[in-house]
Amino acid sequence: MGDHPQTHSMRHFTLRAIASRRHVRYYLSAARRARQILLARKRHRWIVAGAALTAMILALTILPAWATLQREHAMQGPRMQLALPVPSLAPGQIDAPGQELAWQQATAQPGQSLADLFKQQGLSATELQRALDADHGKSDLARIRPGQRFEFLRGANAELLAMRYERNDAQRVTLQFHGDRAAETLQPLVLERRTRIAHGMITDSLFDAGSHAGMSNAMVLELARVFGYDIDFAQDLRVGDSFAVVYDSVYRDGEYLRPGTIIAAEFVNRGRRYTAFRYTQPDGNVAYYSEDGRPMRKSFLRTPVDFTRISSRFSVARLHPVLGRMRAHKGVDYAAPQGTPIYAAGDGVVQFKGWENGYGNFVLIRHNKDISTAYGHMSRFVSTLRKGERVRQGQVIGYVGMTGLATGPHLHYEFRVDGKQRDPLTVTLPKPSPLPAAQLVAFHRVIAPMLAQIDQAHGRTIRLASTR
Ligand SMILES: [Zn+2]
Repeated sequence: MGDHPQTHSMRHFTLRAIASRRHVRYYLSAARRARQILLARKRHRWIVAGAALTAMILALTILPAWATLQREHAMQGPRMQLALPVPSLAPGQIDAPGQELAWQQATAQPGQSLADLFKQQGLSATELQRALDADHGKSDLARIRPGQRFEFLRGANAELLAMRYERNDAQRVTLQFHGDRAAETLQPLVLERRTRIAHGMITDSLFDAGSHAGMSNAMVLELARVFGYDIDFAQDLRVGDSFAVVYDSVYRDGEYLRPGTIIAAEFVNRGRRYTAFRYTQPDGNVAYYSEDGRPMRKSFLRTPVDFTRISSRFSVARLHPVLGRMRAHKGVDYAAPQGTPIYAAGDGVVQFKGWENGYGNFVLIRHNKDISTAYGHMSRFVSTLRKGERVRQGQVIGYVGMTGLATGPHLHYEFRVDGKQRDPLTVTLPKPSPLPAAQLVAFHRVIAPMLAQIDQAHGRTIRLASTR
């Protein structure tokens, strides 16, 4: 993009005058801008309709399931504020026998400490100290997590008889207090990973397709991360693209705890098939590899901005840069809302951070003696970023804005080889080396059953699509 007939406006002339050194300038003519707004409105209506439909589907599918879950919980037993014996303690061991005891539940809020929770429960500083001492060095009660649950058992005089909480995913702790002494009881929690297969086809967005396939947003993001080196999800996604994913979820004592990981996945983008398999090397390193045993992780990210906040159908194609003369646009523009995080495309050293004519707030990262990447129009930098600092791939360096010569918030991204801009979307980079031959045999053996599952799911997606 970028080559288009010159428009002879005064504004353009002025721009050209300003643009003495730098090559890249953008603007949208009034007509284009009006068209863009119209398109945006049209799109907006679709988004509203889509959102309403999604909400309805969610309501129809999730709510009954949720209600069932709640019923199951109710049948499994009471969880809150109900009279309960201390688990895994003999009834006689509880102080104050014969008395109706109630576990009071409290959930840690963001920023809250255990001391805050104790205060909220009306417990004394002495009782807090007793709990901290009893747990000392085993779990970090001094720094509790938001959302962490605590239960307290109080005696007739509101004194703390016992408390219980989860030390980690696999252990529930009960501390029982007898005067100055505390006794600890551990209850193992059974962790279980349940595998699922999801498959779908893109008709609107990756998130829509993922949620139709029953995947959580977290898992959709994970999928995008796994293929993020090969597929530019901000620009490359097309209607008709399809995916199949084998992933797991973590359950504890039969109850859903958190999303697990992707075990294997396939993504067909514009007719090209990509695969990824999670594989543990003998040294314990876990990474994703393509079917031919090459690591998915490459030296450079394909999309240096958070694609989830980019409207893929409303990206570069409509942002027409104006160039000083008939010069090419030597980078890629990612239209994204103001404040969208921008990532370092690869490991490297910050060579420049500051204001650069035309580019506005600008960062240049040198990756090796030949390759550097450049990021323009940022609203602001990450405050701790310094010139000469080492950055890791994926590290946030700044946020999308429209500083310098830009007519709307976007990231202008350049990939430079020996100081010359190359198209970051097509520049060929050396393929990472595959697993060593000895490991490759084991790898193929491990992935064979996953591959079969993926192929099966793929077949279902294709059949489903052909019946539409
Ligand atoms: Zn640009």
